[in-house]
Amino acid sequence: MSVSRAQPPVSLLIHSNLYEIDPVLKSVLRRFWQAHSQYEDRLRAFGRWVGETLLPAVWHLDHHSPPCHLYFSPFADRVDHVWLDPLQWQILNQLHQFEMIADIWKSRSLMYHYALGYLLSDAGLYCIFTLTTQTAIILDKYGPFREVVPKLAGLQKPYAYGATFYTEATSGSDLSQNQTVARRVGDHWVLTGEKYFTSNVGIADWALVTAFEEGAERHIKNLRLFVVPRYREGGEPNYVIRRLKPKVGSRLVPTGEVVLDGAIGWHVGELSQGIYYTVESLMYSRLANAVASMGLAMKAYLEAQAFAQRRVTFGRPIIAHPLLREEFEVWRRQLERSTALAFWAVALLDGCWRQSPPYSEAYQLARLITHIAKNRTAEQALAITQWAIEVYGGIGVTTDFLIERWHRETQVAIIWEGTSHIHALEMVEAIRRKGAGRILVDYIRQQGCPAQDLARLETLIQRIESEPEEQVQRQAKHLLRQLAEWLEQWLTA
Ligand SMILES: Cc1cc2nc3c(=O)[nH]c(=O)nc-3n(C[C@H](O)[C@H](O)[C@H](O)COP(=O)(O)OP(=O)(O)OC[C@H]3O[C@@H](n4cnc5c(N)ncnc54)[C@H](O)[C@@H]3O)c2cc1C
Repeated sequence: MSVSRAQPPVSLLIHSNLYEIDPVLKSVLRRFWQAHSQYEDRLRAFGRWVGETLLPAVWHLDHHSPPCHLYFSPFADRVDHVWLDPLQWQILNQLHQFEMIADIWKSRSLMYHYALGYLLSDAGLYCIFTLTTQTAIILDKYGPFREVVPKLAGLQKPYAYGATFYTEATSGSDLSQNQTVARRVGDHWVLTGEKYFTSNVGIADWALVTAFEEGAERHIKNLRLFVVPRYREGGEPNYVIRRLKPKVGSRLVPTGEVVLDGAIGWHVGELSQGIYYTVESLMYSRLANAVASMGLAMKAYLEAQAFAQRRVTFGRPIIAHPLLREEFEVWRRQLERSTALAFWAVALLDGCWRQSPPYSEAYQLARLITHIAKNRTAEQALAITQWAIEVYGGIGVTTDFLIERWHRETQVAIIWEGTSHIHALEMVEAIRRKGAGRILVDYIRQQGCPAQDLARLETLIQRIESEPEEQVQRQAKHLLRQLAEWLEQWLTA
C-alpha cells in the first residue's frame, strides 16, 4: 500500500476496499447470516465506496464542515434550520442507494443493515440512519402514520428521517423522571417539556418522544411514547431547537436541545404500552452501537497495521518487533471475538424482531445478549482505537490524520443508548427477574456445548441470580465482562 498524489494523506486506507481487507467480517457474517453469499457483491461494492468516497469525505466534514444551526430567516422568523454540507447530503443519499434501511423491508431481515453499519461505522453518520431505522420500524409495527414508513425506509422519495427524543436534563438513564407532559386534545396530544439530547434534530421529520400523561404518577410503567412531526400542517415548526451541542465525537449527527412548547403529537400503538415500545426501539440502536464499535475498532486496527508495516525503528518495520507483533495478534483475536458477539446478538434479534409485546423467550435472550454485546464492544473499541493511536506514535494525536478520529468516534459508544453501568444493571435485572440467564443456559446446551464449559456459565448465572442484590450490583460490570468473555470464547472456539 503506497500513498500517491491522488490519495489524500489523511488515511492509509483510502482507496482500499474495506470489505475485502477485513480479516474478520466475512467469516463472522458467513456464520450468522444464511443469505450472506447472496449479498457478497453488494458488500464488496459498499466496502469500495467506504475506502474511496467516505473516508476522505468524513475527514473534511468533521474538521471543516460539521452541521450548523441557523436560527432565524432574513425576516427574523425563528426557523431553526440545521444546515448540512451538500457533500453530507450526497453521502446520506448514497447510503439510501445502497438500501441500508430499505433492505430491511425487502428481505424482512436486519442482517444486511447491520453489516453495512459495521462497514460504515461512523458514529455520527450511522446514528442518522439508526435513528431513522428505529422510527421506521416502530411506526411500521405499531402505527400511527404507517404511510410515511416507505420514505423513512428509503423506499420512496423524498426520503424522510427519524429521531428519538427521550433524554431530559433530569433524566437520561432514569426515564421515569422525564418531566415532559402530554395532554390529550381531540384526536391528538399536546406535549410540553424540554429534551436535552436530541440527535438528528433539524434533519428528522418525525421524532419518537417519551412523556407522561398530565397528572400521571412518575413510574416507568406509565411512560408513554408519542410521534411528533417536525412541522405542523401549516408548515410552522412544531418545536424550538434551542441549540446544537458541541461534541468531541459523532459530530456529523447534529445533537441538540429541544423545547416542546405545545408541540402536537400522536401516541404510538396502544397508549399503555409506551415503555415497551421505547425499550424495543433502543434494541435496534444498541445493536447498531455494537457493530459500529467493532467497525471503528477494525478501521483503527487496519490503519495502525498499514502504518506499522512501513514505519521503521531500530532497523526494521515496527510491526516486526516482537512486542508490537504480539499486540497486533492479541487485538486481532479480540476483534474476532467481539465482532462475533455483536453479530450473534444481531442474529438473535433477527429471529424475533417482528414480535410485539408480550415478547417470547427468544426476545428475552436477544435482549440479554444485546446488553452484554453493547457494553463489551464499546469497551473493546475504546481500548483498540486508543492503542492504534499509540502505534501511530506522536502523529497519532494530531488532527492531520483520521486515526485520532476513530477514537473520538468511539467515546460516545459507551454512553449513549445506555451507559456501561446501566447495561450491566439491566443484564442483572434480566437474569434475576426475567429468567434470561436460564434461557441462555438452555439455548447454549441445545447447541451442544461440552458439559464442563457449560458448568462455568451456569455457576456465573447462579451467582447473579442468588447472591445478595447489592453485592451483585456492585460487581455488575465485572460480571458482565466475565459473561462476555465466556460467550466470546464459546462463539469462537
Ligand atoms: C452525543 C450524544 C447523543 C445523544 N443522543 C440522544 C438522542 O438522540 N436521544 C436521547 O434520548 N438521548 C440521547 N443521548 C443521551 C444519552 O442517551 C444519555 O446521555 C445517557 O443515557 C446517560 O444519561 P445522562 O446523561 O442523563 O446521565 P445520568 O443518567 O445522569 O448518569 C450519570 C452517571 O451515573 C451513572 N448511573 C446512573 N444510574 C446509575 C445506577 N443506578 N448505578 C450506577 N451508576 C448509575 C451513569 O451510568 C452515568 O455514568 C445522547 C448522548 C450523547 C452523548
